[in-house]
Amino acid sequence: MRILTQNTSLLARVRTLAGQAAGRFLAQNCLLCGQTSEGEILCQACANDLPRLPASICPRCALPTTAGEPCGRCLAHPPHYDRTLAAFSYEFPLDKLIQAFKYAHHLALAAYLGREIASLASDVVADLVVPLPLHPVRLRERGFNQALELARPVAVTLGLPLDSRTCERIRHTPAQAGLSWKNREKNIRHAFQCARELSGQRILLVDDVMTTGASLNELARTLKQHGASEITLLVVARTLR
Ligand SMILES: [Zn+2]
Ligand SMILES: [Zn+2]
Repeated sequence: MRILTQNTSLLARVRTLAGQAAGRFLAQNCLLCGQTSEGEILCQACANDLPRLPASICPRCALPTTAGEPCGRCLAHPPHYDRTLAAFSYEFPLDKLIQAFKYAHHLALAAYLGREIASLASDVVADLVVPLPLHPVRLRERGFNQALELARPVAVTLGLPLDSRTCERIRHTPAQAGLSWKNREKNIRHAFQCARELSGQRILLVDDVMTTGASLNELARTLKQHGASEITLLVVARTLR
């Protein structure tokens, strides 16, 4: 695949496209292999090849289990979210797509990935779509919140209201990468704040990648403290251990 040997050329192409993007993908070629893709962002072959999650996963956290039963960790320490829906496993070439989306603000990719996760949630009864908020400092660095860019097409596709203002990230925590699961949980504690009550709301909580899920779990905890009755995590990719 072209992306394997020419990451820089992919990023260059993505940047050019990001410049063109007016919400619509204008180029004719597949972002991954460069072959013609009839105006779609990926050709059918590359789309079919994206790394899906195994069939048997924990319904709560989406990690693989033998027969789709809840995993040991979720049984021992139930998370604050009720279920996790993830479209892909976070590995090549999905990781490259996410990086391209995150660092080049590729709106057509956001629309594509947003529709992918929306289709996972078509049977979920929900009231509200909430993106995982970024801290204002991080937002200034990056220029956009990738979770919000994914949540927009999710809300449109599912016909649900989008709420990106009620919840804020009030602590600028050090990067989570490199911390153990326990320390990530500690690191993220009280990082979020909600400005209103969400009594009885069933929430689709959107983010790009779920690694340990510590940030998502902390926001789920905060949302439930404010009355939310059910939290479904909706993520593009799950990191498998
Ligand atoms: Zn392709
Ligand atoms: Zn689990």
